Amino acid sequence: PASGARTTPAASRATAVDTSIVGADVRIPLVTGERVTYANFDYAASAPCLAAVREVLDASLPYYASVHRGAGFHSQVSTNAYEQARRSVARFVGARHNDAVVFVRGTTDALNLLARSVPKDCTVVVFAAEHHASLLPWQHRGSRAGKVIRLPLPQSPDAAVEAAREALRSAPEGPRLLCVTGASNVTGEIWPIERLTAVAHSAGARIVVDAAQLIPHQSFGLSATGADYVAFSGHKLYAPFGAGVLAGRTDWLQAATPYLAGGGATGNVTEDDVRWNDLPARHEAGSPNVLGAVTLAAACDTLTEAGQDELHAREQALLDRLRTGLAAIPGVRDLALWDTDHPRVGIVSFVIDGLASDLVAAALSAEYGIGVRDGLFCAHLLTRHLLPEEHEQAVRASIGLGTTEEHVDRLIGAVARLAAHGP
Ligand code: PLP
Repeated sequence: PASGARTTPAASRATAVDTSIVGADVRIPLVTGERVTYANFDYAASAPCLAAVREVLDASLPYYASVHRGAGFHSQVSTNAYEQARRSVARFVGARHNDAVVFVRGTTDALNLLARSVPKDCTVVVFAAEHHASLLPWQHRGSRAGKVIRLPLPQSPDAAVEAAREALRSAPEGPRLLCVTGASNVTGEIWPIERLTAVAHSAGARIVVDAAQLIPHQSFGLSATGADYVAFSGHKLYAPFGAGVLAGRTDWLQAATPYLAGGGATGNVTEDDVRWNDLPARHEAGSPNVLGAVTLAAACDTLTEAGQDELHAREQALLDRLRTGLAAIPGVRDLALWDTDHPRVGIVSFVIDGLASDLVAAALSAEYGIGVRDGLFCAHLLTRHLLPEEHEQAVRASIGLGTTEEHVDRLIGAVARLAAHGP
C-alpha cells in the first residue's frame, strides 16, 4: 500500500506545523474487492506516527548507538538526543524544576514502577472506573502499597471528588496516594483532576494521573494542576510502541530500590554490596529505548508547536459531529458514566440494539474500511457497568489527528445502515 507520510488536509489547515500522520491515505480492500482509504477509529488503542516523528526517527538512525556507555561519536550524539528528549518531555508535562522524568515502556510500566516505589504501606485510593493498568498494580506482586481502597463508580464528577475526600480522610495515617485517570479510555469523559488534586493535597496525600488518554488530546501540566505524578505512553501520542513516561516528585522514586536490577541503575557493585544510581538512571536499568524516547519527545514537541488547544478544538468539532450523528440513529446507545454534556476527549463507545458488537466491528471493517475496537477495553468493571443487559461488549470509536469529516460521515452512515438492516 501507499503508506507515504502525506498531509492530512484538515490537520494541516488547522495549524502551520505539520501534524499529518504516516499512512493517512493507505487504501485497503473491502469484502467486495473495492479499495477505500482506511478510516482509522482506533486512536485510543495506538495512534499512528506523525510524519514529524518519522523524520526524527530517520535522522536518528544513522547515529544508532547505546547511550551513557560509549565514548564514540555516535554514542555522544545518542546520549545528547536521549537527554534532550527528557527535557522535551519535562516541558510537555509542565514539570516542576525538581521533578524527575523517567523513561519506561508505557503507562502500564509507569504505574507498576510507582506501585513498587511508594513508601511501604502507602494507602492507595483508586476508582473502579480505571483502566486495568491503573487499577491493578497496587495489589500486584512487588507493590509496596498497604491498604488499597477501591471506590465504586461515582455518579458524577462531584460525587468522585466527595468520595475521594472521604476515602482519604478515613484512610490510615501515613503516606497516601490517589490514582485517577485523566480521561476514560471507555467513555472519553474527562475527570476533574484539579479538584481531585486539591482534595488529595488537603488530606496530605499525593495524586498520580494516568494521562494515557488525556495527554494526546489536551495539554496537561504537572505544575498547572499541582498533580504529583503523570504517566503516559508514546504509542498513544503518535510515536512508536515501547516508550512511555513516569514524571513527577523525586523523593519516593529516589528512595525506592529499582524494580529492575541491572546495568545503568547501578552506581557501584562490589562482592557484597550494590549502590544504586540516582534518578532517573536508577529506574532505567538495561540499555534504554533511545529511539522510543527520542520519537516520543518529537511527538511532544510537534504537538506543543502546533498548539494543543487548536488541535483540541478541531478534534472536538469532529467529536460533536460523530456524537450528533450517532445520537440520531434509532437503536444506537452511547455509553457514558456522567451527563451527556460532560466534556470528553475523542472517544465514543456504543452498542447497537440487537447486534453483537464484535459483529458490528467486523462489518465496519470488511464492508466500510473502518477500524474500530470492540470488547471491554481493559476496563472491565466500568464497561460491564455501562453495557445494556443484552450486550457483552461494546464498540469503541476514537479519533485523532488523521480523522477527517469523511471518516466521521462514513462511520455514521455505516452504523445507520447496520442498525437498520444488520450486517
Ligand atoms: N491507561 C489508560 C487510560 C489506557 O487507555 C491505557 C491503554 O489503553 C493504559 C493505561 C495502558 O497503556 P499501555 O498499554 O501503553 O501501557
